[in-house]
Amino acid sequence: MPERQNISLSHGKLAKLLEDVDAGHRLSTVEALSLFEVKGREIWDIAKVADMIREKETGNNVTYVKNQNINVTNCCINSCGFCGYSRKPGDSDVYYYTKEQIQEKVLEAVERNVTEICTVSGLHPDFNADSYTDIISWIHEAAPNVHIHASNPMEVAYGAKKSGVSTREMLTRMRESGLGSLCGTAAEILDDGIRKIICPGKVTTFEWKSIIKEAHEMGIPSTATIMYGHVDKPKHILAHLNIIREIQDDTRGFTEFVPLSFVHYNAPIYLNGIARAGATGREDISMYAISRLFLDNIRNIQVSWVKLGRKMAQLGLISGANDMGGTMYEESISKGAGAKDTDYMDPYDMQIIAEDIGRDLKQRNTLYDLMN
Ligand code: SF4
Repeated sequence: MPERQNISLSHGKLAKLLEDVDAGHRLSTVEALSLFEVKGREIWDIAKVADMIREKETGNNVTYVKNQNINVTNCCINSCGFCGYSRKPGDSDVYYYTKEQIQEKVLEAVERNVTEICTVSGLHPDFNADSYTDIISWIHEAAPNVHIHASNPMEVAYGAKKSGVSTREMLTRMRESGLGSLCGTAAEILDDGIRKIICPGKVTTFEWKSIIKEAHEMGIPSTATIMYGHVDKPKHILAHLNIIREIQDDTRGFTEFVPLSFVHYNAPIYLNGIARAGATGREDISMYAISRLFLDNIRNIQVSWVKLGRKMAQLGLISGANDMGGTMYEESISKGAGAKDTDYMDPYDMQIIAEDIGRDLKQRNTLYDLMN
């Protein structure tokens, strides 16, 4: 179908656009932008079509992974404006887990039958490439059968720079140490103007894209994320979604897309009056629904119950999302930003949420193979 330009969405035009998308039309950025501008009850029309497409692509299941987070240190050279987790050397509550402490946590995780250990940390001033490969190999040594979902393009770039190696070499070493997949965090919003405001010390949009593509080309899959609801506008979200869709067209390396709603309570950009107090409920629903409609090449859209809370997460699952993410067991980053109840969600509670919307809860592994 031909590309549309600057459509103004009357009720009739919205209905026609959604009908076309349901029939296979690929949304242009202009069309998707107009969907983000929809307010009022028509938001449910968008969510309904997103949910229908979700059903066609992923069936009636709500999936989840049994995982455990290990955030090895909160000591960080960066000062991202949305981060309430990082600390500086000498701060009273700065921490760093030793090899013994990490392996103790890993063994606890194995006792709980987790299939994935997820680890991302602060950028410790003493870390280099070996620090990251050591952490991965310590986890792998203690739990050789557990999938290690670790690091993100920022950590890859940081470790590589500190040791004077290329990012490809860094990724190779990480894989040899036991890395199973790369975290698609540190993406925030892939727009350098926004990044200068919220995370000036982080990798640029170009660097994030290059490292993710490099990983995918090497056969290392990753997740993809977006953090929205701070100083961003829909045009920035669309620029981000477009980058994710283009990478996926090239590499097919993303396993899932995870919209992360900004948690503002302890975030410096909120406390300093730069950012607003997070996305509204309408924006959260729009984000999930339009992600499903726009990212026609990414099968799995994950709700973040940690960011959204359980009730909004359930609404996300009937607005295009099909996955509940992980059980977590330990979570520090959103908690640091002021989110509540972030540590653990029992599969029993996930089942109540899924059954309440007529869906079946299924356990999966990191790469979305079903476990039951
Ligand atoms: S978001 Fe990550 S890199 Fe940024 S300050 Fe926090 S811990 Fe450091």
